[in-house]
Amino acid sequence: MPLSTDLIDRLSAIVGAEHVRHTTGDLVPYARDATPLFDRLPDAVVFPADTAEVAAVLRLATEHRVPVVPRGAGSNLCAATVALNGGIVLVTTRMNRIREISPDELLAVVEPGVTTAALADAATAHGLLFPPDPGSRTVSTVGGNVATCAGGLRGLKYGVTRNYVLGLEAVLPTGEVIRTGGRLWKDVAGYDLTRLLTGSEGTLAVITEITMALLPAPADTGTGIAYFPDLAHAGRAVADILSAGIVPATLEFLDRSCVNAVEDFAALGLRRDAGALLLFGDDGTSDAVRRDLTRMAELCDAAGATEWTLAEDVAGAEALLTARRCSLPALSRLGSLTILEDATVPRPRIAEMVDRIDAIADRHTVTIATFGHAGDGNLHPTCVVADPNDTESIERAHAAFDDIFRTAIELGGTITGEHGVGAAKLPHLRAQLGDDQLQLLSRIKTAFDPARILNPGKLGS
Ligand SMILES: Cc1cc2nc3c(=O)[nH]c(=O)nc-3n(C[C@H](O)[C@H](O)[C@H](O)COP(=O)(O)OP(=O)(O)OC[C@H]3O[C@@H](n4cnc5c(N)ncnc54)[C@H](O)[C@@H]3O)c2cc1C
Repeated sequence: MPLSTDLIDRLSAIVGAEHVRHTTGDLVPYARDATPLFDRLPDAVVFPADTAEVAAVLRLATEHRVPVVPRGAGSNLCAATVALNGGIVLVTTRMNRIREISPDELLAVVEPGVTTAALADAATAHGLLFPPDPGSRTVSTVGGNVATCAGGLRGLKYGVTRNYVLGLEAVLPTGEVIRTGGRLWKDVAGYDLTRLLTGSEGTLAVITEITMALLPAPADTGTGIAYFPDLAHAGRAVADILSAGIVPATLEFLDRSCVNAVEDFAALGLRRDAGALLLFGDDGTSDAVRRDLTRMAELCDAAGATEWTLAEDVAGAEALLTARRCSLPALSRLGSLTILEDATVPRPRIAEMVDRIDAIADRHTVTIATFGHAGDGNLHPTCVVADPNDTESIERAHAAFDDIFRTAIELGGTITGEHGVGAAKLPHLRAQLGDDQLQLLSRIKTAFDPARILNPGKLGS
């Protein structure tokens, strides 16, 4: 139901009329995020400038029982920002100041709408590193990264976003402003609400300030590439690298279909006959990087690599990493609809999981290519559908992904390693967490959001 003129007027009084949108044309860009097949027009979009405005919008929404969906860049891949029940989409992009970078304390204080790349660049300018490195970094916001606990290419060595969140300011749906954690690297007072809010996907509170830990920037980085007859051989190389005591900064794989799609797309000179490709990289002192890269290349060789190369310099390393970074656009060209998914299995079971994905794709007669983070078992099976109006193909793709998520759980894995649950994966959550835990999630949701206005139809629903 559209919001009343009175409510639009009250929203305008809070954030300024120019920061409220409510005509259909203005709402269309906020009907969907980066997830295909989910959309719903909200009734209004608001762009608050600060914490006080966020609090006032939330108080008003709770009072009138209007749903509110927090949104950063809308780059999530699990329909986490689709306003399933209409209501208000609250966009944080005006709250985009980097308030502080402290080299002494190794931290940054930022507003939620700062892009990941802007924080990473500001850290670099101070000789520091913000390690999380999602593929969407140029558009995704730090608030969105925290709310989804984003991962990325450096997850094995450096962990994910939650490993860097020291403290948060957040507004509860009832309008109270809370502060969790702070600037300390050690603080165990009370339940860990910082961790609870990290990954809560906009269902418990709106994050309005983030204190993020940084690390000293490494002096050097390096990358290599190795080709294998199949993923089983690449998997052996991954196991050998890790058991040799090396913790690479990058350890990514592409399966055969993915290698060919990337080569068709970017003509990088990749070997099309490879059954699997492994990208390996490290950072640190120049000597350590060279030593580890050479050792990793030797271990790939011993595990059956048909060919390997080390990049000569930073530009060469970036060129190699392009193979991984352009996997999604390369696959997208193969059809009109690309469904990129995310599942994680224990590392030794990656090759088995990819074999099972291939068998599932054959069984459902769909096209699925897989790439991902070999170092942390995080796979991105990607289904390409030729015609987005072919409902029968889309149903077969859904059935294939149902089987893929079931298989991930069966192998001791998870239905999502980094993209989150959103609306897209909510139907699969019960299979992983069980009834008791789902009920606990729902009780936690009620404690934060008694009127259940915040991002309904997602976690805690
Ligand atoms: C090409 C591409 C590559 C990607 N690569 C990666 C990757 O490598 N790793 C990875 O983890 N993800 C990746 N993603 C997914 C996505 O970019 C991440 O989930 C990212 O963290 C979302 O940030 P955002 O600002 O777009 O958030 P949005 O999509 O706007 O929101 C995501 C969730 O966070 C909530 N939210 C946003 N801001 C706030 C706030 N201030 N307070 C409370 N809740 C909030 C929303 O309600 C929603 O539930 C990729 C996406 C694309 C399109």
